[in-house]
Amino acid sequence: LVGIQQFIQAVEQAPLAISITDLKANILYVNPWFCQTTGYHGEELQGRNHSILSFRTTPVEVYEGLWKQLKLGKCWQGRLINRRKNGQRYLADVTVSPLANDEGEITHYLGIHRDVTDTH
Ligand code: FAD
Repeated sequence: LVGIQQFIQAVEQAPLAISITDLKANILYVNPWFCQTTGYHGEELQGRNHSILSFRTTPVEVYEGLWKQLKLGKCWQGRLINRRKNGQRYLADVTVSPLANDEGEITHYLGIHRDVTDTH
């Protein structure tokens, strides 16, 4: 039987960078792998916008496509050029999806990404 503790452990121990944001992409939670990937401590990211990871080279149309999908209640998958805290650039394979409550209202967004620089 899988309990709530295992769900928490799954997110905390997953070898993927996981984040939960509000509807404006302000970061509310990041898992340890997210910190390892980006070089930020969890506390530093609290309340910061997810755009903190943008290397500012991805065309705005890509982000517009991402937000269009989210606004339609759909998930978006793609590759973004991200920036670690130390300024290093990395290629991120990113999936973002809406999180709905029991009433079906979208309350948060879920981000899952991994560094695919070496596989590119
Ligand atoms: P923005 O100010 O974000 O604007 C870019 C475009 O997005 C504009 O057209 C704007 O109108 C639109 N937009 C922005 N916010 C909203 C909104 N709340 N509703 C509707 N449209 C909006 N970006 C990365 O670069 N790397 C990541 O790893 C990454 N992960 C993300 C994970 C999650 C869960 C979410 C929700 C977003 C993520 N983003 C990521 C996108 C990020 O939030 C920014 O939109 C992006 O980084 C561009 O930032 P910006 O300041 O250049 O432009």
